[in-house]
Amino acid sequence: MSKPVILTGLRANNDLTIGNYLGALLPMIDMAKKRAGEYQVNLFVPDLHSFTTPIDHSKLYEQVLHNIKVYIAAGLPIDHEDVYVYRQSQISAHSELTWILDCFTGMGEMGRMTQFKDKSAKLSEDRISVGLFNYPVLMAADILLYNASYVPVGDDQTQHLEFTRDIAERMNNQFGELFTVPNPVPKQHEFFGKDQGLRIKDLQDPSKKMSKSDETGKGVVFLSDSPEEATKKIMSATTDSFGEIKFDTKERPGISNLLQILSLLSGKPQAEVNAAWEGQTSYGDLKKAVAEAVAAFLADFQSKLATVDEQALLLGLEQSEAAMRTIASETLARAQKAVGLRA
Ligand code: ATP
Ligand code: MG
Repeated sequence: MSKPVILTGLRANNDLTIGNYLGALLPMIDMAKKRAGEYQVNLFVPDLHSFTTPIDHSKLYEQVLHNIKVYIAAGLPIDHEDVYVYRQSQISAHSELTWILDCFTGMGEMGRMTQFKDKSAKLSEDRISVGLFNYPVLMAADILLYNASYVPVGDDQTQHLEFTRDIAERMNNQFGELFTVPNPVPKQHEFFGKDQGLRIKDLQDPSKKMSKSDETGKGVVFLSDSPEEATKKIMSATTDSFGEIKFDTKERPGISNLLQILSLLSGKPQAEVNAAWEGQTSYGDLKKAVAEAVAAFLADFQSKLATVDEQALLLGLEQSEAAMRTIASETLARAQKAVGLRA
């Protein structure tokens, strides 16, 4: 028996923040480390999904490789025998199965997708692509090709996972057991542990979360920031006028954010960090400690990133992609046979 499959996409841009790192990258990498052995872990870069809205195509190829390097520098266990890292576009079955699924998908079903409604509302009519409209079908193919049971889904992707289950069941009903139906959303949350809600705040405006697409970036620490730049941002973080350090995310979000960053980067429990600082009156000292922790983290991360060998990475990717092509082709062939394209 082959191992049950966990599948997740590694979507990331060049400029990830320490918020993305602490809230998304690390949990994903921990999951891969914890589950590999018992499960097969498919981590793919959804590069076909990258241009459902307009992008700079001259950068896409390098960006994809950069993303994977960032994950490796962050500790992704790419050499584990149960871990497969691959680019969606390199396995043509994704596109081929999408077409078949497209023809069993209703226009109405896709039109109801809230992601489509939200994203298309921001674009003028002539820039809304058919790709944006039917990308949930591609996502269903991404999942079904590998018989994946577990797919971590945030709230924005819930509807798409439900659609994946619907189309799989619909085709299974019509053609017999074609696809593995992934687990329903509540089971996914149970398996992965529902998003613990970690939200690093913007340093300038701690009432909102740190976001990579923030307009000024002044309150945002990017993984590509130099330790000096990051230090400046932290030293000028917005705090409060209470005059005494206390961890209280509601009343004192700025100071609490700094204490939280310190805890996460030092690996010390929040309570221990709080106990060390609460009651002190010098916000400057705390900022200095946080700035030092962040600068040390960035220096370390960036030096790891610089040592990721691109040639070895490409070779590893190609091996993974060859293995995944075999599995995906089997599923595709089953679907092709079912719809009458193969004997
Ligand atoms: P954008 O501004 O483009 O929306 P973002 O920084 O909000 O960027 P997303 O691409 O929306 O990032 O999310 C990527 C991942 O990072 C998600 O898993 C999300 O939950 C997580 N994440 C985003 N911002 C934070 C944050 N401030 N703290 C912790 N996790 C975060
Ligand atoms: Mg966001």
